[in-house]
Amino acid sequence: MLFQNEKSRARLSAILEQPTAPFREGRVIAAIETILKKEKISYFLDPAKNIVVGVKSKAEYLKLIRVKSTEPVRLFIAHMDHPGFHGVEWLDDERLTFEWHGGSPTAHLLGGKVWLADEEGFVGEGRVEEAELLPSGRAIKSGIIRVKDLRRQVKAKEISGGFGFRKTHWSEGDLLYTKCADDLIGVFAIVETAIALKKKKSPFIGLLTRAEEVGFIGTLAHLELGWFKSAKRPLLCVSLETSRTLPGADIGKGPVVRLGDKKNIFHSGATTVFSELAAKVLPGKHQRRIMDGGTCEGSAATSYDIPTIAISVPLGNYHNQSFEGGPDAAETNGPAPEFVSLSDIEGMCLLTQAVMKPKLPWATPYSGAIKEFKANLRKYASLLKSAP
Ligand SMILES: [Zn+2]
Repeated sequence: MLFQNEKSRARLSAILEQPTAPFREGRVIAAIETILKKEKISYFLDPAKNIVVGVKSKAEYLKLIRVKSTEPVRLFIAHMDHPGFHGVEWLDDERLTFEWHGGSPTAHLLGGKVWLADEEGFVGEGRVEEAELLPSGRAIKSGIIRVKDLRRQVKAKEISGGFGFRKTHWSEGDLLYTKCADDLIGVFAIVETAIALKKKKSPFIGLLTRAEEVGFIGTLAHLELGWFKSAKRPLLCVSLETSRTLPGADIGKGPVVRLGDKKNIFHSGATTVFSELAAKVLPGKHQRRIMDGGTCEGSAATSYDIPTIAISVPLGNYHNQSFEGGPDAAETNGPAPEFVSLSDIEGMCLLTQAVMKPKLPWATPYSGAIKEFKANLRKYASLLKSAP
């Protein structure tokens, strides 16, 4: 079991304890680089500063996708940011105006505790003093933070922040509470997959992206490089996300074979292969549905015509909005820690490794179904001839 392995637990903590916000993923990038260097796993930063895991350069990336093979290169994607704010201007010694990026709680905002960070790490805390919502009412637009205990003087524009709770993360039984599960859990799963695969030569690329929360910006910047267009073998995108819990995608009942998101249905044939695989690897311990509480990077890859499958870990208090409540949560729609199940994370990691198995029938996903259909057709052949 993953979490009986102390090293895995330590890596999860090392990732979750970092501040992150859209375009302000520097501390997460640094933490991941430390882990990858220690584990001697190749990686490089693409021009948008997404981390590309499993290959050491653009040349090696292109070499891997240009190998003539029927075995698809699995391109795992997860994002390193989380909704949060950027500082705009100091009004005086204590009051900072801010602009919000991404989803957010929408009620009980005043007095809400926030953390503040710069590129070196956390610099202090504050409370929301004023907050204005977007015209749609769906998220915060801007506001004012009353800052206290600032550890050092920082220019307003160098500050980022987000809602804070008793700690960056803590667990209660199987539940893991944190300021940010979305999508540092997906990032963790890719790192663990890379570590599990490191002694094998696998067609694996992990893409840890920036600024997903404002519209897949890091992923789009990567796809626009056009590198994938020179592939001489199939590509298969595997999107990893924590996604808002929905009926049939319950926290603690296993990872979800994600059939689609709010925007798209993912690749039918590849999802069939993946779903049959999940039934073998996690019988009775996985779920399967369209997770349409939000969109994910699988939709970006799908739009660029890359066959895509997706895995979700069901997420409580999506985007720190108190839907499910629990410890440290404000009342409905107020600020709250996100939470996920540790056993669901373990399940996700088992599925990512299973997806890497060689010789899965990605190119002939329906051969089993056709066999069954044909047997049934034969069975009724004489009746079909009998009448009318
Ligand atoms: Zn996400």
